[in-house]
Amino acid sequence: MTTPARTISVAFVRRALAALLSEAAWKLPTDYVAALRRARQQEAAALGREIIEILLTNADRARAERLPSCQDTGMAIIFVEVGQQVHLVGGDLNAAIEEAVRQAYRPLRKSVVADPILRENTGDNTPPIVHYAIVPGHHVRLRVMLKGFGAELMSRLAMFPPAVGVDGVKQFVVETVERAGPNACPPVIVGVGLGGSFDTVGLLAKKALLRRLGTPNPAPHLAALERELLDEINALGIGPQGFGGTVTALGVHVEAAPTHIAALPVAVNLNCSAPRRAEVIL
Ligand code: SF4
Repeated sequence: MTTPARTISVAFVRRALAALLSEAAWKLPTDYVAALRRARQQEAAALGREIIEILLTNADRARAERLPSCQDTGMAIIFVEVGQQVHLVGGDLNAAIEEAVRQAYRPLRKSVVADPILRENTGDNTPPIVHYAIVPGHHVRLRVMLKGFGAELMSRLAMFPPAVGVDGVKQFVVETVERAGPNACPPVIVGVGLGGSFDTVGLLAKKALLRRLGTPNPAPHLAALERELLDEINALGIGPQGFGGTVTALGVHVEAAPTHIAALPVAVNLNCSAPRRAEVIL
């Protein structure tokens, strides 16, 4: 028996998305703030603890005063899940998403250029980067990231042969964080994509950053890899904001997908100390 379709207007999606983006700018995720509080206890360096304290104060002030938690309010990265039983009415969904970004970014910094060579600012932070998925159900799920590019610039991708094995993967991930040093605004969250193809491994790493901090990958071998990577990264000594210390990363999230027999694609997407993300289900 087929269930009846649910009608959702694109104007409803637009309003919900604009509110979500605005809120994400000033309200850092609760799991991140909790991890930062734990890090304040764990950090061995006095200066590192002081910096974490400043980051916590910044998070509190941003939330209390509804001010951006960082001056770089980034590019809007939007994951849209549309249930198969949803009938979207009242206009063009892509246009509604762009309008939501335009509205939400009115009081925020505009960081998007229309062309990577000509570099003219679009003036309204559009276009966003949008990933669509059709899923079973009657809902629309919106997940957003306001992605600062200090950490994005330090992210890397490699198409390895399988012979590099797990040791080669670990070396690449740790080396990426080491090369980033203070530039990714640590303590970082490390999203790792494994498998897929050239075009999908980066998306896996990005999706890894959507996961709540402290939630391991359900596959035991990948959860173990996450723990080992976190220990190795925190042994680098980069510390909060690169001033030295034992908390360089708050978490490592690995997402894996099937791949070709000839390849072991690896992508590392770093997130910074303003890891803005939010979600809503309509
Ligand atoms: S990398 Fe993150 S914390 Fe650093 S300036 Fe950019 S948005 Fe802000």
